[in-house]
Formats: sequence, C-alpha cells, structure tokens
Amino acid sequence: MRAGNEQKYGGLDSFRVIAAILVIANHTSPLLSYDAFADFMLTRIVSRVTVPFFFMCTGYFFLQKLGTDKNKNIEMLKQFLIKLAKLYMLSILIYIPVNIYAGYFTEQFSIYTLVQDILFNGTLYHLWYFPGVMLGVCICYFLCTKLSIRAAFLIALLLYIIGLLGDSYYAFAQSNLYLERIFQAIFFLFDSTRNGIFFAPVFIMLGGLIAAYGQHVQGKPVQRNRVQTKRAQRKTKWYACGFIFFFGLMVTEGLLVKEFHLSRHNSMYLLSIPCMYFLFQLLLSFTIKSNKYLRNLGILVYVLHPMCIIIVRGAGKVTGLTSVVVGNSLIHFMLVTMLSFAASAFVMSAAKGISRKTSSSESDDRGRAWAEINLAHLQHNVKEIQRVLPNGCNMMAVVKAQAYGHGGWQIAEHLNRLGINHFAVATLGEGIELRKKGIKGEVLILGYTHESAIHQLAAYRLTQTVVDVDYAKKLSACSVKINVHIKIDTGMGRLGESYEHIEEIASMYRFSNLNVKGTFTHLNAADSLEEPDIAHTKNQISRFDHVIAQLRSKGIDPQKLHVQSSYGVLNYNECNYDYARIGIALYGVLSREEDKVKTSISLRPVLSLKARVVQVKQVKKGVSVGYRGTYTADKDGKIAIIAIGYADGMPRLLSEAKASCLIKGKRRAIIGSVCMDQLIVDISDMDDVAQGDIATLIGVDQDESISAEELAGQCNTITNELLSRLGERVTKIYK
Ligand SMILES: *Cc1c(COP(=O)(O)O)cnc(C)c1O
Repeated sequence: MRAGNEQKYGGLDSFRVIAAILVIANHTSPLLSYDAFADFMLTRIVSRVTVPFFFMCTGYFFLQKLGTDKNKNIEMLKQFLIKLAKLYMLSILIYIPVNIYAGYFTEQFSIYTLVQDILFNGTLYHLWYFPGVMLGVCICYFLCTKLSIRAAFLIALLLYIIGLLGDSYYAFAQSNLYLERIFQAIFFLFDSTRNGIFFAPVFIMLGGLIAAYGQHVQGKPVQRNRVQTKRAQRKTKWYACGFIFFFGLMVTEGLLVKEFHLSRHNSMYLLSIPCMYFLFQLLLSFTIKSNKYLRNLGILVYVLHPMCIIIVRGAGKVTGLTSVVVGNSLIHFMLVTMLSFAASAFVMSAAKGISRKTSSSESDDRGRAWAEINLAHLQHNVKEIQRVLPNGCNMMAVVKAQAYGHGGWQIAEHLNRLGINHFAVATLGEGIELRKKGIKGEVLILGYTHESAIHQLAAYRLTQTVVDVDYAKKLSACSVKINVHIKIDTGMGRLGESYEHIEEIASMYRFSNLNVKGTFTHLNAADSLEEPDIAHTKNQISRFDHVIAQLRSKGIDPQKLHVQSSYGVLNYNECNYDYARIGIALYGVLSREEDKVKTSISLRPVLSLKARVVQVKQVKKGVSVGYRGTYTADKDGKIAIIAIGYADGMPRLLSEAKASCLIKGKRRAIIGSVCMDQLIVDISDMDDVAQGDIATLIGVDQDESISAEELAGQCNTITNELLSRLGERVTKIYK
C-alpha cells in the first residue's frame, strides 16, 4: 500500500490533543456543578468520539503498511506490540501506588481479576485502551491477512454489533433468554464488551479502509493547482457536513438510549461509525503539516491525567480548598487539564534530554571516521545549477548510491525542502527507501528492475526506466499499471532501445499498462571538450531529437524529455529539455581536477571526510611499518595511526605516499599500505599531534585543503567512484 508521506497529518495530530481534553472531561465531569444533563451530553455522548478516534489513527497508519511480504508484516506487528506493551507496562507500574491507595489489591482481588484486567479492562479505569488497541490490531491483522479488506471490515462490524448489545443496547440482549445467557458468559469472561475484541476492531478497520481507498488522493504531489485546491475545499466541506449530520444523529441516539434505559454502559453507539468516518476524513483533508510533539502530547495526557486528578484532589485537601478545586466541577476540570498538559510537556522535555544524552551524540558520531555534510553548500549548489539551467528545464536530482555517499534520503529530504520534486535512483531498493522516508515527487529508477517486483513499483509510486522493447512487453504483461520513462540508446551502448529502431521505440508507448511519463537518453562523453567527443555528443543529441521528431510525426507524445547530466549541462547548456539529471555537480565537485567546462559555475564541495588519530608513536631509523613493511623510516621519526581504511572507502591505491591528509592544518603523507580499518601518516616533524586529534582526508583544515578531485586523481579514479564507495561505517553528520 501507500508509502509514508509524513508531512500532512497535522489535522489528526491536533485532534489528538482535543481528544485528550475530552477524555479528561469524561473523567472529571466538568459541567456537573451546573447542569447534569449538559454534563451527560458532554461526557457520555460527545466525548465518545475520542477512543474510536485513537483506534482509527492506529488502523490508518498500521494497516496501510501491511504488504505482501509475510515476514515483514509479522515483524511489523511484533514491533508494534512490543512498543505498546512497553508503554502499557510502564503505565501499570506508575499506577500501582494508586491501585494500592484505592484498595485494588484488597476487595475481590484474585489472579483471575488481575489477568482479566491486564488483558481487557486495564488495571486502572483508563488503561484498558492499551490492551484494547493491541488486541484489536491483532484481530485486524489476522482478518486482513486472511480476507479482503472489505470482508475484514464486515467481520469487525459484526463484532461491534455484538459489543453494542452488551453496552448501549443491553436491553435488547436482555429481551431474549438465550442472548442474555450468552452475554452473562461474555461478562463473566471480559466484564464488559468495551474491549479489544468487540470495540476496537471496527474502528481500526475503518482507519485501514480510509488509508486503502485514500491512497491515490493522498499520494498526489503537494503542489496543487487551482482546480485541485477547489476540489480539496469542496471535499473538506462535504466531510464537515457529513460529520455534523452524523454527529447530530449520534447525539440523538445517545439521548434515546438514555431515555429508554437501554444501556448497561454507554461507551458504544451505532452512529459513531459514520460520524467517525466523516470526522477522520475531515481531519485528513486539512493537509496540515504533521506535528510529532502534539501526537506525543495527546497520548501522554491520556496516560497521566488520572494521576493529575489525584494530585488536584490531594492538593485540595492539604490546602483546605477542596470545596473550590474539587467542589466546582469546572475549576476541577480546568486544573486537572492544565496540570496534565504541564506534566506531559515536562515528561517530554525530560525524555528528550535523556535521549540526547544516551543516543549517538556528536561525540559518538565523530568517534572514529565520519563525513560532514554541509547542507548550506548543497543549497548553494542547487541555486547555482538552477542559475545555469536553460529556462524551463528542471533539475532531476540524482541521489543514487546513497547520494554519491552523502546519504540518499537525507539529501533527498533536504532537496524536497528546497523545492526539488524529481529524483533519480539506480535501484528499486533505493527508490523504496526514499518513499519510506516520505520523499515527495517523482522518483525515477534509472536501472533495470525485474518484473517480479512490479507490485512494489506500483505501491511505492516509483517510475521505472524501460530499457528495451522486450522489457516493455514483460512489464506490461504483469497487468499492473506503472509509470515509466522510455530510454533510448543514442550511442553509449548501455541501457536503452537503439535509436535506429524507430518502430520498436514507437511500440513502447502503446502498452496499456505502461503509463509513459518521459523519454530520455544518456550522453557518454559530455565531460570531454576534445573535438571527436564533442562531435560524438552532438551526434547523440541529434539522434535523440530525430527519434523524438519521428515519434511526434506518428502522433505519439514522448512526454517529458531529458538528456543531460552534470557535464551535459555544463558543456551543452544550449540544449533545452524538460529535465537535467544532476548528480556529481550537486555535491559540489567535478569528476576530475583537470576537467574544464564551458559554463562558469561556482560549486562548493558538500562533503568533508575526517577521522581520528588513534595512536602516535616514534619510529627509529631503519624500522619498517605496516603490512609487509612497505615503508621504512630513513631517519628517526614519528607516525600517527588514523582510524580510516579501505573498508571505509579509502582505496588501497593511496598507499605509499601517493596521497596525504591534513593534521593541524598541515599536509602529511600517507605511508605504508592502507589497511582495512586504519592508515598510517608520517608526522615526524610535528610535536603537537596527540591521540584523539582529527585528520582531514577530504576538506579544509586551517589554510590547507584537499579536494575530492585531488584524492580521486591520486588513485586513478573519478570523484563519483571515490565518494559513492564511502563505507557504511563512516557516520554522516549533517550541518
Ligand atoms: C548517474 C547518472 C546520472 C548523473 O550523472 P552525473 O554525471 O553524476 O551528473 C545521470 N543519468 C544517468 C542515466 C545516470 O546513470
């Protein structure tokens, strides 16, 4: 199903706070001092939207993540349950003193009631929510993996109807002897029907249904045109009307249930289902930015407010003000609400402080070898590249291979923020990672994806490159509609259908399951300004233009066109296509130090590579160091061991003084052979180097600097390779 687009659930997040306040109202009866009927309306009817709302949020986010991979699904369920169980256990422990005070362990306490409470009712009145949501999710998970989502919903609805008979409509169950017996048994087992079996599933499923059917709508890119905005506003109105209508009906239902004394308990109403449907859709239609703080605040207030009720009552007793702070129900409610929010905010800032101390802090990230990613430089490069792009040509940011070693989704996320909405990756896995991290816009896979993964292409809204006509047939035969770009080989001899096969190319636009969004080719010598290379490139461009003209003359729209990558733009910016696929230039470097380009542009390198000095030692003249002793000191001297090696992406070709690094602003030679995890530097003439100092492999240190181009040249490669091969152990720090 749809991958996370984490940006626009602010409506839900805000309502969580309102819901938490309603829960407090439910437990403090704010209007009781004034009007018992109004209080009944507020606490026994209106506030009944809160728990279903929380269930729906869970269903909406959990069920949409269910995929076809069974192991992944089970792993997800497990993680979900563990997370909630921890929270539940913590809540149980916090409230044990309250239990003791309230006499929980004296009257009628037995192992049986304890188990019943832990599994269904909660050990304090509000804690039933946790086992409820866990059990409900398990049931929905089971139903969804066995049945269609609609059938699963119907079963959940049936459970809810049974639940209603044990709750608001108990009078009906009592009207029949057999039914009454059944419900006696149910109450013996669970005490009530307000639990994870009868109450939770229908709302969890409802959330899941909304997620399943809302995919296309909510998956749409953020930029809306006027028509879409109008349509969205109309939707909001429609949902608001639906909510008001059914909310009114639900209130009426609640009053009737009360009037005719139908209920045993009144937490479940039939009309809360349509009412919640419209409320949830309304909240989703707001597309406000998600707010994690509000989300956590909501749940914390839920957990902590009973404690605050006790504290307010206790404070009333101590100060002798009970008649005011408890006696006036509205003041009581407001004090409890304020205290609950203050306590929750306090817990959150304390937790943040703790996690900052324990999680991988800066010093851990810089413990050994790390890359500093300068996002301001990235932004500068984006601006510079956009400046030199032809009018109307948009940047497609190439973030394959972890954005050339800079961190794939992190870079893409930042580019999203800078307004870039087209991305290219090399593989399916890279594309999925971007979607899972909430990257918006088009994500084009430049490489081949086996057709067996077609569902993932569709589910994650990835655009696949069609490499030739046979591949087009295979993809289309899968009967899953996907977006594609057609690739033409204009003389590189790599991926793409040959420019000479016009008929085959034309046929690739006619497959019903392939939604062609673009056509492109790749230039293989645009980085060279040698005469034959220029001729070859111009030839490629005219071949591409010719193919496009032929397609158009056949009435085929080739859609968006793109040809140039970084060097294509820098050397041929007279060519104007819809996109330019920019990789290496985004990261602020060229492939080689000696490369000249026609367009003048000021790029700033985004990445610096650093590592710690982990040991400093003296070497006597004639002593050899490193594997096979390839370096022998020709006089008494000193060496430093640096914690970065070829497993981190420092090629072994840099051994034997071919390259250097910077220590305390001085260039020092890398000697001996580069090892897997370390390398050795000659620091004979330096007195002030100590364990823990920082060595710069790429970047600036005081007045000295080493560029990625220089280092790449020293190991006979280009920066593209050097950077994209930085190892996983190199932590990344974004500034
Ligand atoms: C990697 C790649 C690019 C990016 O090239 P740069 O030279 O890094 O800008 C563009 N197009 C295709 C097809 C690629 O594979």
